[in-house]
Amino acid sequence: MKTVSFIQRNAGGHWVGDGFPVRNMFSYNDRPERFSPFLMLDYGGPTRFEPTTKQRGVGQHPHRGFETVTIVYDGEVSHRDSSGGGGTIGPGEVQWMTAAAGIVHEEYHGERYAKEGGPFEMVQLWVNLPARDKMAAPGYQGITRDQIPEVALPDGAGTARIIAGELQGTQGPAHTFTPMQVWDLRLKAGHTVTLPAADGHTTAPLVLRGRLRLEDGQEVGAAQMPVFTRDGQDVRFEVLEDATVLWLTGEPIDEPVVGYGPFVMNTEAEIHQAFADFQSGKMGRIAAATA
Ligand code: MN
Repeated sequence: MKTVSFIQRNAGGHWVGDGFPVRNMFSYNDRPERFSPFLMLDYGGPTRFEPTTKQRGVGQHPHRGFETVTIVYDGEVSHRDSSGGGGTIGPGEVQWMTAAAGIVHEEYHGERYAKEGGPFEMVQLWVNLPARDKMAAPGYQGITRDQIPEVALPDGAGTARIIAGELQGTQGPAHTFTPMQVWDLRLKAGHTVTLPAADGHTTAPLVLRGRLRLEDGQEVGAAQMPVFTRDGQDVRFEVLEDATVLWLTGEPIDEPVVGYGPFVMNTEAEIHQAFADFQSGKMGRIAAATA
């Protein structure tokens, strides 16, 4: 069994553009080996937006060297990028964007959601790429609700929607470059749950709501991440209050992480190159919207 090594609490809130009030849970700027292969996690909301005629969000900006994974719990997020990818996702849906060699994208509230307003909650997770794939072709996977299979946990303890990875023989739809598990867990109070986590892998789930008691007696609640030892297999905890948990485990990528803003590479020289390539237009541009 893995044991908890520390509990991560949000490192401060900020706005991304005018659309995403987020709590940053961790970032590649601070001892990134602790969360590898994950680089960054922003927890947006939960909050409410009033109806508006202007779609809030963040305009065109580049990324290189990793993937951005946007998971919507409430509200709508729209995205367009220079690889031709784009779409609008709602509750239970996921945008898995591979920036890799370079992409320019924009992220806004969905048009209908902006008009209607209402509850808003989302997560943006950055997933590192190994050095050999950092300059791979960019891509975009829009993953709809019905593409994400749901697995019942033993003894009626709840459900796991498998976004990436595999549980009890059920495979998630997201293509990943390295092994990882990304699941949307809904857990029922009063159950003790044992979840698989591979020996040697990082295990750092995010609690969005509810309350868990870990094996050592520590309790974790909303906007907290228990980070477990790489050594050992599987994680066990008790569900004290009905919980929504973003389950994250993955094989660490033990390579140097050198990042600056929207670029995360292995060396300083590669970061300078990323700025030069963006400024000279090599990361492409977003095609004009067609009616
Ligand atoms: Mn972005």
